[in-house]
Amino acid sequence: MPQSEAVESRVLLKRLRDTLAEAGDGQERLNRITALVASSLVAEVCSIYLQTEADTLELCATTGLRQSAVHRTRMRLRQGLVGRIADTASPVATDDAQHTRGYEYFPETGEEVFASFLGVPIQRLGEVLGVLVIQNQNPRTYTDDEVHGLEVVAMVIAEMTELGAFTGTAPTDPPARHQGAFMTRGVIGQEGVAAGTVLLHDPRIVITNPVADDPVNEQARLDAALEALRGEVDAMLHSDDLADAGEHRDVLNAWRMFAHDKGWVRRMKASIDAGLAAEVAVEREQTETRARMSRVADVYLRERLHDLDDLSNRLLRLLTGISAVDQKDVPEDAVLVARNIGPGELLDYGRRLQGVVLEEGSVGSHAAIVARALAIPLVIQAEHVIREAANGDAILVDGDQAIVHLRPEENVAGAFRAKIDMAAQAQEAYAGIRDLPTQTVDGVELTLLMNAGLMADLPSLRPSGAQGVGLYRTELAFLVRRTVPKRRDLVALYSRILDSAGDKPVTFRTLDIGSDKVLPYMRRPEEPNPALGWRAIRVGLDRPGIMRMQLQALLRAANGRPLRIMFPFVAQFDEFRDGHEMVHAEVERERRLGHMVPEYVQIGAMLETPSLAFAPDQFFEMADFISIGGNDLKQFFFAADRENELVRRRYDTLNTSFLSFIQQISERCEDLGTPISFCGEDAGRPVEALAFAAMGLRCLSMRPASIGPVKRLLRAVDLSAARGAIDDARANGDQSVRAALVRWLTQVEAPIN
Ligand code: PEP
Ligand code: MG
Repeated sequence: MPQSEAVESRVLLKRLRDTLAEAGDGQERLNRITALVASSLVAEVCSIYLQTEADTLELCATTGLRQSAVHRTRMRLRQGLVGRIADTASPVATDDAQHTRGYEYFPETGEEVFASFLGVPIQRLGEVLGVLVIQNQNPRTYTDDEVHGLEVVAMVIAEMTELGAFTGTAPTDPPARHQGAFMTRGVIGQEGVAAGTVLLHDPRIVITNPVADDPVNEQARLDAALEALRGEVDAMLHSDDLADAGEHRDVLNAWRMFAHDKGWVRRMKASIDAGLAAEVAVEREQTETRARMSRVADVYLRERLHDLDDLSNRLLRLLTGISAVDQKDVPEDAVLVARNIGPGELLDYGRRLQGVVLEEGSVGSHAAIVARALAIPLVIQAEHVIREAANGDAILVDGDQAIVHLRPEENVAGAFRAKIDMAAQAQEAYAGIRDLPTQTVDGVELTLLMNAGLMADLPSLRPSGAQGVGLYRTELAFLVRRTVPKRRDLVALYSRILDSAGDKPVTFRTLDIGSDKVLPYMRRPEEPNPALGWRAIRVGLDRPGIMRMQLQALLRAANGRPLRIMFPFVAQFDEFRDGHEMVHAEVERERRLGHMVPEYVQIGAMLETPSLAFAPDQFFEMADFISIGGNDLKQFFFAADRENELVRRRYDTLNTSFLSFIQQISERCEDLGTPISFCGEDAGRPVEALAFAAMGLRCLSMRPASIGPVKRLLRAVDLSAARGAIDDARANGDQSVRAALVRWLTQVEAPIN
């Protein structure tokens, strides 16, 4: 922007701020702004349209159009030029409005006489709040500088909207954001219900003075913050922690590149020159980045734009001195609301959280894995939750239905309380049967174990009534760190787990990385189909370094106690035999080194690929135990990606083919004397668990919270009668036995919910 225009822009912004500071209600402020902008930019019309409800823009103030149209003229997003601006978040400038694409005539405004039109979005951090328009009668070509000038004004209005400057007293005021009930639907990340108080992971930064009083001083503040930012990034890059890190280093290198990017800095400085405070200049760039993010399809480019967005957040924090959430300030009933969150950050909050709601996230993301391990209700892909939630709001999370309520009405909150009470009552009922055996009415006894992945899970062992840990996912400890853990750290961790389990058995699964579980510090080849790719035992055998280190840590942690080790994703006998040999070689090594070796080591395999079910008998004889990893087995059995929302629910676990396959595996193991269990998510669903038991499985491993409901159902049914109902459905040609089984359970009044 040329100097003279920059000076004019600064003068306008200051007058704007002074106008806003004068007494009056929100409507008066809006009116004054339109008058000021119209006179300063030599326009006959200036109008402000605000998004009053989802998808609707309302003319909230005007100078030049008919006053009777104010609060009457409304348009949907995409309707008319104003709707187009809001929809595309881009300006429209024309000297012939009537013949411009998208033009729509609103007769009540009397706008037909104005040929020239310039409109810009009023937006903050990628979120469009409204549209600011100027119009002229005569054909006028608005220059780029005029467009930029109006955008700068719109930035200030956006900040003021955020501060609530236009809401409050008059009945015609647009409704304030962060007031009134809001409901959004997402995708289930983890079942369960929670009621609590919103805790924003990234607190919104409120800028009380968006206008620079002294641009020279603002430039100096920006320079100082940039300097500090570059220092932070360099320090992270040089920290020992990252000696040979892969992807994480890439992110930091990208940050460094951005932090020194001349274009980025120049654009922010130009905004300050035009009269914006340094924070708003940073936000303006962020708005632009987010707009680009929503347009680009390329995954790599999106990642880089994410990096730039993260970096801008850091810069904002440096400028405002507001840090990320202080762990000490986490309220007791906090429900964390975040755009996305890393597994390490989520673990930092730990069990203090009642629930988690993410605007992004995926079912298989690390954060989702951690939330599941912590048994915290989680809703992902909850649309607009960041925009609507404010710290301290009441929030209800229904992880069973993937619904989130903010500031709920009393009737919704009441219904929710009833649901929580029912869940609590059910918990009491489960506590009553905790120490009783899991024995069906016809005398079949089952073993119920729990799945775990964090030390934080172990305290659930006794209260849940689990008879041991059937699956300990060791990769979680690797996923939540920035570097490969050291052997001594692992020895300490595994010892604590064994100590805490006491006489109850723990089955440690060796590292299952790859596919959905990507270590941030491990460089991996690009794979077209990661779920079918280089993962789990395949990585362990091809690059035995980490696996050997892990085996050593397990052997040492056992310290003479019995040890159970399980290899994930074994697809053929050879892989198991090689892993088996590796364990024995490590036992020998430990012995040679004079370390105590376990009393005995049991070595098992996860059956997660159909191929292993057809392995030679010798495999079943060598394996001390087998556990069916149903999550993976099902995705390969049906060729349906477990993370793809379009297909993952398409095939029922109680599908006749899948159940019959489970039955075959169970019978083969029985014939060959190999203990068999099931440890996928389905084991924790009561009806599924019953069907597996009916197919012959006698050991199930599940989330601790599922043990109560599963046990209650199993204790209430006659297993051979359940098998009869399943067999009838199969004989009948049913695609899934679910309907028949549930009908039978209802008839016998079994507790299925
Ligand atoms: C499974 O695949 O069923 C399983 C238990 O392993 P994970 O979910 O960790 O892949
Ligand atoms: Mg698996």
